[in-house]
Amino acid sequence: MPAKIGVRNGLTRSARNALRRGAKLLELAFFPSFCKICGTLLEQPGERVVCAACLAKIVPEVASACVCCGRFFEGEGGPHPCAACLDKRPPYGHHRSCARYRGELKETLLLFKYRYYRSLGKPLGRFVVEATREEDALWEGVDVIVPVPLHRRRRKERGFDQARVLAREIGRLKGLTVAPGLLRKIRNIVPQTSLERADRMANVRGAYTAPRPERIKGRVVLLVDDVFTTGSTIGECASTLKRSGAKDVRAVTVAQA
Ligand SMILES: [Zn+2]
Ligand SMILES: [Zn+2]
Repeated sequence: MPAKIGVRNGLTRSARNALRRGAKLLELAFFPSFCKICGTLLEQPGERVVCAACLAKIVPEVASACVCCGRFFEGEGGPHPCAACLDKRPPYGHHRSCARYRGELKETLLLFKYRYYRSLGKPLGRFVVEATREEDALWEGVDVIVPVPLHRRRRKERGFDQARVLAREIGRLKGLTVAPGLLRKIRNIVPQTSLERADRMANVRGAYTAPRPERIKGRVVLLVDDVFTTGSTIGECASTLKRSGAKDVRAVTVAQA
């Protein structure tokens, strides 16, 4: 009903803002909270966990990157394939990270791993969408978004799956379907952070399965994860989806370490 939408967007917008401000004042009176990064009082409507000033310091990386794996280059030079990708193409066609894993972005991503701070999925998802706005090679023709899954046991321990929260926010903003069930982690592997590059690749081999290949066949899938390190996790997920018939697999991550 268009009339109703008009009222919702027009008449009630200021009322909603006033309500939001009122709610924030009440919240401040009873449960004052502080930015988990810089410690200032969170007093703006909508501020959660990290203040708007700290979030504003999270900006996209300006350095050019490998047109294939998305690894940022040090120094000058336009986008081109890196030596590693020229040597051996990764199983994903195109990956983009939005920034380097450091500073406020690193702090925010570390906080985002705690279930009580999952609301950070909103600003992080928005950051991904804004940072990749011009990246047609990433977005064009995407049929479905699939978050890199955690193992069921790990998800239970943690209480939520951060890549899934992120994927949902990105999907909502881009108007794309998010289907976490299309990829499942079947082996609870040794944490990747404790391993060297070669061991990481062996560690993830066979760790994922695509239980519904009929929903993947012939489609362009976009993988979503929080941090990109060696690319072995994204690579293994992409191989699994490719084996199930995906036409193309791309990936986007918030940051690269
Ligand atoms: Zn702050
Ligand atoms: Zn590369």
